[in-house]
Amino acid sequence: MNKEIIPILIIGAGPAGMTAAIYLSRANATFKIVDKYAPGGKMNITQHVENYPGIETISGPDLAFKMFEQLRSLGIEVGYADVNKITKEDDYFVIHSDEETLYAKAVIVATGTQERKLKIPGEARYTGKGVSYCAICDGNLYKNDAIMIIGAGNSAIEEALFVSKIVKHVHIVHRNERFRADESLVNELKAMPNVTFHLNYIPVEILGDTKGVTSVAIKNVIDGTDKVIEVKAVFPFVGSDASADFLSEFDVRDDKGFVLVNEEMMTSVAGLFSIGDVNQKVLRQIVTATNDGAIAALAANRFVKRK
Ligand SMILES: Cc1cc2nc3c(=O)[nH]c(=O)nc-3n(C[C@H](O)[C@H](O)[C@H](O)COP(=O)(O)OP(=O)(O)OC[C@H]3O[C@@H](n4cnc5c(N)ncnc54)[C@H](O)[C@@H]3O)c2cc1C
Repeated sequence: MNKEIIPILIIGAGPAGMTAAIYLSRANATFKIVDKYAPGGKMNITQHVENYPGIETISGPDLAFKMFEQLRSLGIEVGYADVNKITKEDDYFVIHSDEETLYAKAVIVATGTQERKLKIPGEARYTGKGVSYCAICDGNLYKNDAIMIIGAGNSAIEEALFVSKIVKHVHIVHRNERFRADESLVNELKAMPNVTFHLNYIPVEILGDTKGVTSVAIKNVIDGTDKVIEVKAVFPFVGSDASADFLSEFDVRDDKGFVLVNEEMMTSVAGLFSIGDVNQKVLRQIVTATNDGAIAALAANRFVKRK
C-alpha cells in the first residue's frame, strides 16, 4: 500500500492548534490540522475573554471565529478526525481514528482537557437530559427553572454568574468553604439574589424521571445529613483531565495524565510535540496555548527538515 506520510499533523484546533497552523503556514510547511469538533476548542464555551492582549473584550466564540477566519485566509482547512490512538512505526507516527488512519513524520498534540465526571448514580443516565458540562451552552434551556452548579473553581463560578442572569434560581454545591475562583467573581455571585450556596456538601445522586433531571441528593460532609434539592439541570465543574489517552503507547505523561515537554514543546519521543492545556503547566489560558503553538510549529518544522 502506498501511504501518504504528512510531514506534520496537528491534532486539535483550539487556540494552541490553530496558532501552530498559522505559524506552519507562514513558514511554508506542509501540514494538516484535524479536530473531532468545530474549531475553537474551549473558546467556544467561554462567555467573555478580557485578558487576550490587543483585544479588550470579546466573546469566546467570536475570538474562535476570528482565529478560524485567519486560518481560512491562509488557505488552511480543518479536517475531521477523532483520534483514539497513536503508535510509531519506523520513523513515522500512525494516527488511528474511527474514520481513517493517518501517517505523519511529526505530530503536534493540541487536544486540551475534558471536564471531569462526578461518577455518581444518575450522572451518565441523565447526561443530555439535564446533566451538562457547559452552562454557557445549555443555560438558556432552563430559563424558568432552578439549576445546580457543582464546584467552586473559576469555571464553576464564571458559569454560575452567567447562568444566574438567565435562570430562576442557582444552587451552588461545594465540598468545603474555600473558593478557588477569583475573589471578584465570587463576590459578584454572592451578591446575586437568586443564588443559594450549599457549602460543605457533595452530590450523592442525580434523580429524575423519563423527561430528565428532577432533583439532586446532596450530603453534608461534616455532619453526614442529606437533603434533596429540586432542580431541572446539573452542571458539574469539578476539574478537568488531559485529553491524551490516545498517547498510552508512549511514556510521555505525568501521574495525572498531562503531557511532559521540553522548551521546544517536544516530548521525550522524537517528533512528538504537545501544546496547550493538555500539557503539564502552571497556567492554562488562551495566551499560554497560543504561545506553545508558535514554539512547537517552528520546532516541528525544524525537526522534519532535519530528517
Ligand atoms: C468556562 C471557561 C472560561 C475560560 N475563560 C478564559 C479566559 O477568559 N481567558 C483565557 O485566556 N482562557 C480562558 N479559558 C481557558 C482557555 O479556554 C483554554 O486555556 C484554551 O482554550 C486551551 O487551548 P487548547 O488549544 O490547549 O485546548 P482546547 O481549547 O481545549 O482545544 C482542544 C481541541 O482539541 C480537540 N480534541 C480533543 N481531543 C481530540 C481527539 N482525540 N481528536 C481530535 N481532536 C480532539 C477538541 O475538540 C478541541 O477543539 C477558559 C476556559 C473555560 C472552560
